[in-house]
Amino acid sequence: CGIVGYVGHQASLPVLMAGLKRLEYRGYDSAGVAIVDEVGGIHTAKKAGKLQVLADQLTIEALGEGHTGIAHTRWATHGGPTDLNAHPHLADGGKLALIHNGIIENYQALAEALRADGIDCISETDSEVAAHLVAKEYRDTGDLTEALRQSANQLHGAFTLLVTHQDQPGLVVGARRNSPLVVGLGEGENFLASDVSAFVEHTQRAVALGQDQVVTITPEGISVTDFDGNVVHPEEFTVDWDA
Ligand code: GLU
Repeated sequence: CGIVGYVGHQASLPVLMAGLKRLEYRGYDSAGVAIVDEVGGIHTAKKAGKLQVLADQLTIEALGEGHTGIAHTRWATHGGPTDLNAHPHLADGGKLALIHNGIIENYQALAEALRADGIDCISETDSEVAAHLVAKEYRDTGDLTEALRQSANQLHGAFTLLVTHQDQPGLVVGARRNSPLVVGLGEGENFLASDVSAFVEHTQRAVALGQDQVVTITPEGISVTDFDGNVVHPEEFTVDWDA
């Protein structure tokens, strides 16, 4: 139900947790984070229950001081509110993490196709197929943005997706269809969120992603395309309320 992504000069964990806190009013049943550490790889934690339950088991020591990360609050639609069903969902041998808000209507057909390729989902969610799909496209293309574009084109329904990969520190890729995604533009840092309230304490410069668009953020900038790879130049706006 809430999504936050970060790349930049700050340790991502506190930024992400504060962002989730800001989205707490929307309601949720589980929460989770994935942090990409430039040296140590990817670290994830996810828990059913309140944010505090997750926060109590998070430490910078365990999760690393990675400057790249994604975080999620879940309102379960497919699969009960359990630790296993909480996001992020992992793929590519645990190297890729994905979070999803919304409903992937054709997840059963996609799960069957993946199973035929020898890839099994371990959760009961509609979201996990998206993680395996992006991982599969990433293995084929070596390009996380292209992999998300090709995956998004195969998904039906409503989704805001964020993906991060341990081989790509300093990069978070997002996509949206029938579900919101906003970019926060900082200095040497950039943000992604389902709602501007998640990053407004850091920046008031924002870009709203259009329908069926993909965004890649690095500390230096953002780039936006449609699902077919055509470049889009979205208009910047100012969030005109106080943090
Ligand atoms: N449909 C997904 C799930 O049940 C995402 C729900 C959400 O938007 O939080 O895990």
